[in-house]
Amino acid sequence: MSFKNIIGNDKIKTFLTKSIEENHILHSYLFTGIEGIGKKLFAREVARKLLCLEQEETEDCLSCIKWHSENHPDFYQIEPEGSTIKIEQVRNMQEKIAEKPITSKRKVYLIIDSDTMTKEAQNCLLKTLEEPPEYATIILTSSNESKLLNTIKSRCIKIFFQGIEKDKMEQYMKEKYEMEPSKELLEASQGSLGKMIRLQEQKEIYEQIDNWLNQIEKEDFITMTEKAEVLYKEKENIQEILEYIVVSLYHTKERKKLNAIQHIEETKKRILASSNYDMCIDYLLMKLWEEMNEKYSRSSI
Ligand SMILES: [Zn+2]
Repeated sequence: MSFKNIIGNDKIKTFLTKSIEENHILHSYLFTGIEGIGKKLFAREVARKLLCLEQEETEDCLSCIKWHSENHPDFYQIEPEGSTIKIEQVRNMQEKIAEKPITSKRKVYLIIDSDTMTKEAQNCLLKTLEEPPEYATIILTSSNESKLLNTIKSRCIKIFFQGIEKDKMEQYMKEKYEMEPSKELLEASQGSLGKMIRLQEQKEIYEQIDNWLNQIEKEDFITMTEKAEVLYKEKENIQEILEYIVVSLYHTKERKKLNAIQHIEETKKRILASSNYDMCIDYLLMKLWEEMNEKYSRSSI
């Protein structure tokens, strides 16, 4: 990975590359901008460059080798555990920061989604930001900087990442995914490649759901279940998906499909209350099939 492989925000690339080459490195940076525009990728590449011993394109110095094996003793990254970054995570990071670098001349600390730090964690980090060891650089990323304490923000040099230009997004999607994003998709992504990829993936999910719903009456139970594979896979998005199914069934205005809605609603609750996700889906499929195929009813399943 090098800056060449990261799209967009060329001015920031130039600025950071120059800072590293001229050894004008500050102790703390805050990378801000909407989610999914590559702040973490950037931060990791800056970290590699800061740690690199030779600044060669080949990336084969001892530091880069350790970096690429994801085993660099002078690099430390923290990310939210669950939905927040907790004070213990910051403390663990601070314990190591006092030890001098081993392989490189510097140590780099990355705090991803730093705005998810609890208040306690932020206050704890403040001590390090106020008096960092001379060899340490701390990079914070954030897509919601209003949640960061002003005292934290004032200690960091802020670098604002802009949305990626539409033509670059288009080109990237063509090369990586062999697809041409629609105008709507480009619009909805707001310059965030991460968001575009997620929307694109979800588009496929909903297409699968539509196909499954269209076939639901025509298939035998086993085939219908096989075609519902997406429901088993998409545990994380299931509430949204079930809501989508409710709306789709509602729009058909067919009595048996309207009747089926109650089973979806029940399943939404059951999933929240149950630890056996697959069983909830099994049960839903059985109920739906019964509803759609009244003539076979329970006896023939
Ligand atoms: Zn290197």
